[in-house]
Amino acid sequence: MGASIAFHLARRGVGAILVERDHIGAGATGHSGAIVRQFYESRVGIRLARKSLAFFRRFQGETGVPCDFRRTGFLTGSRLRDLPAFDALVGLLRTEGVRLERLRPKEAAGMEPQLDVSDYEAMVHDPDAGYADPIATAAGFAQAACRDGAKAIEGEEVREVIIRRGRVAGERLRGRDVISSERVVLAAGNWTPWIARQAGVRLPVHFVRGDVAILRRPPGSGAPPRIHFDVYGNTYSRPEGEKDVLVGYMDSGPQAALRGPELLDNALPVATGRDLLSRLARRFPIMARAQPRGGWSGLYDVTPDAYPILDAVGPTGLFVAVGFSGHGFKLCPEVGRLLGEFIASDRKPDELAPLRAHRYREREPVVPESPFPALRGRTLP
Ligand SMILES: Cc1cc2nc3c(=O)[nH]c(=O)nc-3n(C[C@H](O)[C@H](O)[C@H](O)COP(=O)(O)OP(=O)(O)OC[C@H]3O[C@@H](n4cnc5c(N)ncnc54)[C@H](O)[C@@H]3O)c2cc1C
Repeated sequence: MGASIAFHLARRGVGAILVERDHIGAGATGHSGAIVRQFYESRVGIRLARKSLAFFRRFQGETGVPCDFRRTGFLTGSRLRDLPAFDALVGLLRTEGVRLERLRPKEAAGMEPQLDVSDYEAMVHDPDAGYADPIATAAGFAQAACRDGAKAIEGEEVREVIIRRGRVAGERLRGRDVISSERVVLAAGNWTPWIARQAGVRLPVHFVRGDVAILRRPPGSGAPPRIHFDVYGNTYSRPEGEKDVLVGYMDSGPQAALRGPELLDNALPVATGRDLLSRLARRFPIMARAQPRGGWSGLYDVTPDAYPILDAVGPTGLFVAVGFSGHGFKLCPEVGRLLGEFIASDRKPDELAPLRAHRYREREPVVPESPFPALRGRTLP
């Protein structure tokens, strides 16, 4: 997010300094499944996702650097009891301009021969969805930002936002160096609430562990499969290159909640890897013979409605981009564009109104226009 915001600011001629305590992509971004889908239940999500997907497709033209976006297509299905809601959601997505095909399970099985569709009543296919290389994306935005006059500093940690007479004056780094600036955007992922708190701003963000396993597809599996959301079996999956599949949980469960923003161990627990494989094999039976190839864990910054907070907060000149709730990677191009516009013009774009910081206090969280019951309460990738 920080790199995309810097890119969009630089493009507008605003001097931007990107400060990263580790290396670009070291946070959730580098641990992301990096699925780029448009299948959202709310208009605000669909719109951010649609515009971002269009940007991913022209990423190299915009930045001069490839992000390795691969169009794979996206499939998901509904059981009989959820069909009315599923059809309402398909309708909403179509009115928002998403090019969707509603399929009978038999038709979907023709497209995806390894998929068990026996419990589905209907399916939907988004041919435009895909995935990108998240590190190449973040690094690409940063490189392009620097080419347009921004500066990126890696290996420096921001300790606090400097505030003078109610206005942002810059930020102090760990070694006590100071960067002077009238505006600061906190886009430090899981660490944003901590930095914001030093500036007197409380953000309703909690931390949830997300696990990802990589499985080598067995011989005879055919072409790489499309992205699949199995809302009933609690997995999402996508191809990883030509030979592997990446799989994670749609819902990490309450045991995945953490007290702090730091994950002590990024390694995938062996039992979790096994569980993901057996769940995936229920939906793709051939994967029962898949070879585990490890995986990793990362951390989601989750808000009460699972949508981000993109707003000006606290002292004049302070902005936050936080709370992406496990699905922010795909939104980074449009989030960067909108925040770039907000920061450069001091006028909040209308698109950001539903994502204001005070919405929880005002009891106006983002509520999906077309909720799909099978997804309720889940943190989707
Ligand atoms: C396992 C997993 C799978 C996911 N899968 C998907 C998916 O398929 N599709 C999708 O759209 N999203 C997915 N997500 C979510 C997505 O990765 C995140 O929403 C997104 O990457 C968040 O980006 P960010 O820039 O806000 O945060 P981060 O990527 O965490 O970036 C914040 C950066 O700030 C730096 N930082 C922290 N503190 C400081 C400080 N004090 N000073 C300086 N720098 C600091 C960190 O080092 C970090 O690099 C997934 C996330 C995880 C963990």
